[in-house]
Amino acid sequence: MITDNYREIRRKIDEACRRVGRDPEDVLLVAVSKTKPEEDIQTLYDSGVRDFGENYIQELKQKMEDLPGDIRWHMIGHLQRNKVKYIASRVSMIHAVDTLELAKTIEKEGTKNNRVIPVLIEVNVAGEDTKFGVAPEETESLIRQIAGLPHVHVEGLMTSAPYVTDAECNRSVFAQLKQLSVDIEQKNIDNTCMHVLSMGMTNDYEIAVEEGSTMVRVGTAIFGERDYSK
Ligand SMILES: *Cc1c(COP(=O)(O)O)cnc(C)c1O
Repeated sequence: MITDNYREIRRKIDEACRRVGRDPEDVLLVAVSKTKPEEDIQTLYDSGVRDFGENYIQELKQKMEDLPGDIRWHMIGHLQRNKVKYIASRVSMIHAVDTLELAKTIEKEGTKNNRVIPVLIEVNVAGEDTKFGVAPEETESLIRQIAGLPHVHVEGLMTSAPYVTDAECNRSVFAQLKQLSVDIEQKNIDNTCMHVLSMGMTNDYEIAVEEGSTMVRVGTAIFGERDYSK
């Protein structure tokens, strides 16, 4: 079931790429496994999947300990500074960096673990009050400050588009994030690259891919609805 779902989404991503003349290999599907049991992750792992996304530190830490060592773990949710230490040695990418303070904490933990930690800058494209993320017009200056931290490597931008019933409504959000990444790339900021664009979830990943996403974060469509009551 889960494996079939994953393959079906992968197929739709590939089709979306073809519609707009992109190479399907340029889009990574991150399986968002938050709240889901380790057996579900193991099932996908056994079929060859290596990239998983999680939101909650305790859960991520436990799964890192229990599951195979070659899984690439993506911390996709809002991250509190005092919790960075629990995942710094193993996390593959931190998707939602939106303050210099958080980046400095990642720098400190990267130094302790003797590694450079890849991060994305979370941008609040739609300007929603309820969302984390830096404003588009402040993104470049934040990146310039983070660029001075040797154990943090900015690899691109991330956004969570608003929840909408018609995914087409988010097309302009994705297009704006893409344009922002092109603009920033042209500035050639040291210790920074813009090759990752993390955007698109269950409801809107095909549109995100059409607009240039290189990482889609899909949970529900792979693992089924989440149950937060447990
Ligand atoms: C939960 C989550 C997702 C996955 O959402 P689905 O709608 O279940 O695909 C993607 N990105 C972030 C940041 C999330 O918190």
